[in-house]
Amino acid sequence: MRTYGLYIGGRWEERRGRYEVRNPANQESIAECAVATEAEVDRAVQAAAEAFPNWSARSYEERGEYLHAIAHALKERFDELALLECQETGRPVKEIQAHDIPATISLFEYFAGIGPATTGETIPVPGEYLTYTRREPLGAVAAITPWNFPLWLAALKIAPALAAGNTVVLKPAPTTPLTTLEFAKITESVGLPSGVYNVLTDPTPATVGSALCAHPLVNKIAFTGSTATGTKIMQLAAPNITRLSLELGGKAPFILFADCDFERTLAQALLANFFAQGQMCTAGARLLIERSIYQRFLDAFVERASKLRIGDPSDPMTEFGTLHSQAQLDRAKHYVKLAQEQGARLVLGGKQPQKAEFQRGFFFEPTVFTDVQPTMTLACEEVFGPVVAAMAFEGEDEAVRIANATDYGLAAGVFTQDVGKALRMAHRVKAGRIWVNCYNMHPAGVPYGGFKKSGFGREVGLHCLLDLYTEIKSVQIDTSPDFFDWFM
Ligand code: NAD
Repeated sequence: MRTYGLYIGGRWEERRGRYEVRNPANQESIAECAVATEAEVDRAVQAAAEAFPNWSARSYEERGEYLHAIAHALKERFDELALLECQETGRPVKEIQAHDIPATISLFEYFAGIGPATTGETIPVPGEYLTYTRREPLGAVAAITPWNFPLWLAALKIAPALAAGNTVVLKPAPTTPLTTLEFAKITESVGLPSGVYNVLTDPTPATVGSALCAHPLVNKIAFTGSTATGTKIMQLAAPNITRLSLELGGKAPFILFADCDFERTLAQALLANFFAQGQMCTAGARLLIERSIYQRFLDAFVERASKLRIGDPSDPMTEFGTLHSQAQLDRAKHYVKLAQEQGARLVLGGKQPQKAEFQRGFFFEPTVFTDVQPTMTLACEEVFGPVVAAMAFEGEDEAVRIANATDYGLAAGVFTQDVGKALRMAHRVKAGRIWVNCYNMHPAGVPYGGFKKSGFGREVGLHCLLDLYTEIKSVQIDTSPDFFDWFM
């Protein structure tokens, strides 16, 4: 059994308080982690704050070398990390190998080279002044992440934060801390200076997270999680005016027109809804199908979804693993019941698979509802599970109206072979990321984040480095021999 301490100031701290992390596929214990309290939060933040002056004073090239070394070490431990993440999340190892670990490596490689882009500007002003801006890192960053993509979502914060010269205290989700603790070992192995990366674990959802957010030495909070928790974090950040970026929930429309490439769209609709068992903020769970191909597409979608290989997530053949927890299972069942009560028609799944091998985990079948109305709960609220709401529309205007009828605005998919229509839709749908004829692509350089209640701030890309992890300082120098004496 793996055991982990807390990683604070470059040292592993053992604690008497410990808790178990379990594999959601069979509920077996896979590791023991230490329980942090507010005292450890304080020490970890102090360690990050103390490490900041030295780390931020290093050149971009020097910091970039550490990030390259981290990427290299991640490659060396690729299979081990993929399996560990599969065991802690319940997601198929196949998709973690295909997405999470490569995407994490790519983030460190991308941000390793981009530091020198944090340039300032010179600004012409009236009079004889040299006026310029510079970008300065913020200091200690509190990074708080959810359980669905634990390593990659942490890397979305750690890589740009470190590249810009900040230091990090990470609080992973209570149930999925293992890959980010292993990541601490990687930072040790590459000689990252003490205190630059710290990790605190805790079995309760909010104790460590809220103490971190309220800590006066935390200069920035980078949060990914639910909109409900995001609201609480805004309140915690308010007293210290702590900088904040929020990646929150979503209810993405997956909009397909009659002129789409049918097979391509079908493949993407499955990816949009059943990757990670639908436990994705970008899940295209509102399947908007143009009326003339509604039944044909729905039939093909249900047929393919019914054949997904459900199984042990650590089996490389498995395509669809287990939901992450009892709470996630209850949530999926709750939305299925509500949808039926409100008149939607269940055409696939809606229950736990019956085979004995699934009874120890939180398995739930791929689920599809038809006859969903845009005002039904299933069309408005985030399920965060494999429950799809199929709806018919007629033409672009109706598609836009339904697509935008939500509090969320994280992502959307548009499928058509008409370029003009694709562009009109991309511009009219209110979401931070629009995929056209593709879905769930996350290249390291492309800004990512939400409109409306899906949050604010854009992770990834140059904007992230500049806007989320540096602050602008302006400097004005009087170069004139004359000076201004107001009181003369
Ligand atoms: P959550 O909001 O319950 O928890 C997220 C993290 O916040 C966890 O580490 C949790 O321990 C911590 N937390 C909980 N209460 C806190 C508090 N009061 N103060 C500080 N920290 C606190 O979310 P979850 O259930 O772990 O994840 C699912 C949610 O995350 C979904 O809504 C999903 O859409 C969202 N999500 C968004 C993105 C994105 O990029 N926008 C990505 C993945 C998941």
